[in-house]
Amino acid sequence: MCIFCQIASGELPSYKVYEDEKTLAFLDITPVSPGHTLVVTKTHYQDLENIPEMELVNLIKVVKKVSQLLKDKLGFNGYNVTNNNGVLAGQTIPHLHFHIIPRHAGDGHGPWQHGQYQPGEAEEIIKKITS
Ligand code: 5GP
Ligand code: ZN
Repeated sequence: MCIFCQIASGELPSYKVYEDEKTLAFLDITPVSPGHTLVVTKTHYQDLENIPEMELVNLIKVVKKVSQLLKDKLGFNGYNVTNNNGVLAGQTIPHLHFHIIPRHAGDGHGPWQHGQYQPGEAEEIIKKITS
């Protein structure tokens, strides 16, 4: 059983933020900022590709609810919701999860590095996507 399945089943402890029949939200053990929370389904799905749509709908509804709860209780103004799919993208636990990361002015967490398309590159990419 994966580590988040063990947390979801109560076999491993966690600081629970929210729980319902299908979903658990708990504090990340190595927070990017205080209150950094992970939201998971109690059923094991590896990533976005593997979760049935209706389960994902439930999960994202909980992400919204928990984000609001954290914002109300902890008093921050902004937050990032992120989800890593695959080892290359930084997924270290192979059980789909959304991160809710509270943000504070001057917290030093930089934005994504933005690049630029070379001439013709965007056209090539959109052709691949839409053909
Ligand atoms: P990922 O890199 O897969 O998107 O995120 C995994 C997250 O799980 C990391 O931020 C890491 O700190 C957190 N994590 C790993 N093991 C545990 C654990 O045993 N308990 C809790 N609460 N969080 C964990
Ligand atoms: Zn799992």
